[in-house]
Amino acid sequence: MDQKNIVILGSTGSIGEQALEIIREHPEQFRIIALTCNSNWQKLADQVEEFNPKYALLCDEESVSALRDRLGNVQTEILVGTDELPDLATLDDADIILNSLVGFAGFRPTVEALRAGKKVALANKESLVVGGGLINELIKDKRGWLVPIDSEHSAMLQCLVGEPRERIEKLVITASGGPFRTWTKEEMRDITVEDALNHPNWSMGDKITIDSATMMNKGLEIIEAHWLFDMPLSKIEAVVHPQSIIHSVVTFTDGSSKAQLGPPTMKVPILYALTYPNRYILDAPRLDWQTAFDLTFEPVDYDKFKCIQLAIEAAEEGGLAPAILNAANEVAVDRFLNKEITYIDIPGIIETCLNDLNHNETISLDSLKNIDLKARRLAQTI
Ligand code: NAD
Ligand code: MG
Repeated sequence: MDQKNIVILGSTGSIGEQALEIIREHPEQFRIIALTCNSNWQKLADQVEEFNPKYALLCDEESVSALRDRLGNVQTEILVGTDELPDLATLDDADIILNSLVGFAGFRPTVEALRAGKKVALANKESLVVGGGLINELIKDKRGWLVPIDSEHSAMLQCLVGEPRERIEKLVITASGGPFRTWTKEEMRDITVEDALNHPNWSMGDKITIDSATMMNKGLEIIEAHWLFDMPLSKIEAVVHPQSIIHSVVTFTDGSSKAQLGPPTMKVPILYALTYPNRYILDAPRLDWQTAFDLTFEPVDYDKFKCIQLAIEAAEEGGLAPAILNAANEVAVDRFLNKEITYIDIPGIIETCLNDLNHNETISLDSLKNIDLKARRLAQTI
């Protein structure tokens, strides 16, 4: 395999750091040419010193002098401000843009990278949630392509290799069920931020950890799968699988199902996105087939986890509804983390935004940006 030049957008986050761990193990395969972060300039400085990229971008302008002082006269060009993200997403010599930004902030870089015909390794599921239709049009027109990093979508992609698309009957997305799977609705009234951040199987950034606790994450993933695999929503279902060993399942029209399995680590899907359609070597845990273990399944409790239901309804509604859902959710999660609202307030805020804002405008970059702003403003006030 030729050495690939990689840009990591959001390199200081959970996915970004795990991607760098893989790249550290395989310097002959991958070379980092640009790294970005929002505000954690100390971590960015450590990464710049280790990986010597051509560019490093700090989105938060306030700490740039601290970063420059710390780095002295390294060869890396230091850039500042969110406006630079699209430039790094389209660098001429980049082979792969790994988008591990969180939230709507990741959307425009995905769009620009695809416009430039790049391969995008996509962790930022929100890109597809808000603008999946627009993204698919760009892929058709401009030769860019997307490979998912999300473990469920990586699992489905792995199951689909060599299979005829028209023979897919169902995509079955597994969900751990999060920390509150066995809690009663009564108990869920008293959920604290600390409870919600305590995910049973995965260690991730705060936003996706809360999304997993409300099961909004699974709703976002259903929308992500809908666009990524061009499948109608009626052919996608979620199932709770608390062990997080089966990462998803594809059922075909002859009744056969294929699943992808492995111990829960994001390193496998990150590496697969970088090497697809090939595979490479990874020093990660293996399943131990000689020790007894259980794989269990339960239906999703849509009444207890209203967020997943809201996401499915917004996807069915189409238009700008998923973008409203996404923006309202980002604000609600933020407010919950800041202890301004409780866990059980989250779906109510999202539902009010969906009911009160107009979804029917034509989808464009501008209309998506506008509705994102409007939904954010409204969600702050509820
Ligand atoms: P994180 O919060 O740990 O990291 C986010 C990164 O983006 C950081 O480097 C941060 O500096 C940067 N960033 C945040 N806001 C920004 C902004 N407004 N402008 C510019 N940069 C910004 O998040 P994460 O857990 O790594 O998740 C990243 C994405 O991957 C999310 O879309 C998430 O849903 C998805 N994902 C994560 C996991 C996981 O295991 N963490 C699994 C599947 C999918
Ligand atoms: Mg996932």
